[in-house]
Amino acid sequence: MNIEKTYAAYLDQQDELAHFRDEFYLPENTLYLDGNSLGLLSKQAEQAVEDMMASWKTFAIDGWAKGKEPWYYLSEKLGTMTAPLIGAGTEEVIVTGSATTNLHQLTASFYQPEGRKTKILADSLNFPSDIYALKSQLQLKGYDPNEHFIQVESKDDNLLDTKDIVNAMTDDVALIVLPGVLYRSGQVLDMKTLTDEAHKRGIPIGFDLCHSIGAVPHRLSDWDVDFAFWCTYKHLNAGPGSVGGLYVNQKHFGREPGLAGWFSSSKEKQFDMEHTLTQAQNAGAFQIGTPHLLSAAPLLGSLEIFTQAGIDNIRQKSLQLTQYLIKLLETELSDYGFTIANPKETELRGGHVYIEHPDAARICKALKADGVVPDFRKPNGIRLAPVALYNTFTEVWETVQILKTIMEEKRYKHYENERGIIA
Ligand SMILES: *Cc1c(COP(=O)(O)O)cnc(C)c1O
Repeated sequence: MNIEKTYAAYLDQQDELAHFRDEFYLPENTLYLDGNSLGLLSKQAEQAVEDMMASWKTFAIDGWAKGKEPWYYLSEKLGTMTAPLIGAGTEEVIVTGSATTNLHQLTASFYQPEGRKTKILADSLNFPSDIYALKSQLQLKGYDPNEHFIQVESKDDNLLDTKDIVNAMTDDVALIVLPGVLYRSGQVLDMKTLTDEAHKRGIPIGFDLCHSIGAVPHRLSDWDVDFAFWCTYKHLNAGPGSVGGLYVNQKHFGREPGLAGWFSSSKEKQFDMEHTLTQAQNAGAFQIGTPHLLSAAPLLGSLEIFTQAGIDNIRQKSLQLTQYLIKLLETELSDYGFTIANPKETELRGGHVYIEHPDAARICKALKADGVVPDFRKPNGIRLAPVALYNTFTEVWETVQILKTIMEEKRYKHYENERGIIA
């Protein structure tokens, strides 16, 4: 690896996924490194939305059963398309709800406190929505989160140690929920070991895959994970507010959904309109009401691209991109007080690079003014996500040059060191 621009161009030439970039709408004159917050629109996703509108226009109510993608089966179809990304059986995945509502549903279904076993174990670095949801689920069951919610601490505020998490799996824990990839530092948790250790102690365990799905392959069924959930607007490129997804291990098929609705029904029975639920005997049972079809449609197109590219190829390129970015940051920016705070080990690094700097908020503003889109995470972090499906090695090189100029010329000092409303 060297730091010349010609080397970046060479890596782009060797890149077998390079042609997928042409399928995406890239913002003009922009180096977009924020695909871990909102992935870009692809032509396929756009087409899928147009097809959905056309089926509404053409078939009206009959769109439930007619047209290219009958609406009644769309959540299941999208689940089937998602399954290879996470190493799941097709019946174990359903596209429904949002990350947070799916976490509510799964906690309502899997958190069954009994006797001394009342606590929920989570971590201190997870995304706030997960923490709010878990605390409110405790309260719904009459438990005070101050006493029944355990958050494993991080030694450096960036990384979690598997041993610390395992040590917290005490016999009063009824449920464990952890992220697959930490949203800030990008650390990949050892989902296999954590699942093994949880099960040795008879504790069900679920993972939030918001930051890992579409960037990192999973083997949920092999690892025997109990459940998982995710959003689809980050690495899965399904657009703002797109419908999320969930996984339930087949050994739990038949478990009663904590939050039931008529879409929890077996598809054959649903329109019998009975007041006793006959639940679906697969992950579909964890749906609630009518699917948000217009917000699910883009996923049909975007998952098509994942099927073509293959998640293992995506992971390989993603790691090359982040490795290259880290290398450039280390060589070109060593004088400017940055700390590379994501894990260095390849297998522990998710889809983005995380650097820290006391002036992070205003460095991000200066980057944006110069056409680079990163994102800022409080208190002092900058996330840079070069995405395998649409970013290039040359863009990574250019980003580092722009950042270097900003630091050399102290241009970030023109901005206040505070985050915007949306960071
Ligand atoms: C993005 C993200 C969410 C967002 O949840 P929504 O319900 O889609 O708003 C939740 N958890 C994690 C870890 C995330 O990264």
